[in-house]
Amino acid sequence: MRIHIPQSIAEAMSMRKELPEAPFFAGGTVVYALGHSYDDAIDISKAVGSEIFHTMRHVHIGAMASLEKIRLSELSPKVLRDAASFCPSLQQRNAATIGGNAAQRRDDGYLTAALLASDPTVVLMTEEGKAEATVSDYLAGRADGLILEFVFRKNLPGEARRIGRSSHAHMAVSGARVGDAYAYTASSSGFASGGKDCWQELGFKDDLLGSADYKRYLLSVMF
Ligand SMILES: Cc1cc2nc3c(=O)[nH]c(=O)nc-3n(C[C@H](O)[C@H](O)[C@H](O)COP(=O)(O)OP(=O)(O)OC[C@H]3O[C@@H](n4cnc5c(N)ncnc54)[C@H](O)[C@@H]3O)c2cc1C
Repeated sequence: MRIHIPQSIAEAMSMRKELPEAPFFAGGTVVYALGHSYDDAIDISKAVGSEIFHTMRHVHIGAMASLEKIRLSELSPKVLRDAASFCPSLQQRNAATIGGNAAQRRDDGYLTAALLASDPTVVLMTEEGKAEATVSDYLAGRADGLILEFVFRKNLPGEARRIGRSSHAHMAVSGARVGDAYAYTASSSGFASGGKDCWQELGFKDDLLGSADYKRYLLSVMF
């Protein structure tokens, strides 16, 4: 694999135009995983920030912030710190980024429920220029591009929970709540956000992590 290292966002975007098959390489935990093979990858570590900082009303988290950095930072929303700890391996948490996690739109994503319940703004770079979207739109595939940062409301109350066979097994289900906003994920079954009972919208399916009925029951008693 050839790894290209752009020094700026503009350079990263022009490389992507020339190499449309090349993934962005953030923490690399997916790009490097077994079963993936790419001729080229675009390392965005020099182009995209990893800082976590407060402004008057918001918390900004750079897309390159690792799950471990988010977990340890007192500036991160609590619901996101809870969710970052769902990734059981320290090595993986040190490499895996919030941008790379969101970009996969996984229904067993460590951060998916916490992101949906807190619904930050996602700042993106697209071919047309800088754009903003809600995380719900991004995760639903209604917005796309290179994620630059997430902007959360400050002082968000909330918590995230997970259930799996063990702390190191993939999550069967997860949930998060921020005030009156709830979000849920179930493996192989999608994710949903809205009111407390929005888990009912999921199309529950059996898989190695549990039966559809098992996952439906777990979410019905999660909060
Ligand atoms: C053994 C193992 C188990 C795993 N289990 C889980 C799991 O249960 N749940 C889970 O959520 N994840 C899991 N993962 C995947 C992974 O570790 C995390 O999802 C991680 O957060 C991905 O981030 P990354 O920075 O490593 O992504 P990368 O591997 O760098 O990139 C992944 C994808 O995201 C895109 N991308 C990266 N950054 C951006 C950006 N800023 N803007 C737009 N697109 C971007 C890339 O183009 C690429 O397609 C697992 C990985 C491994 C190796």
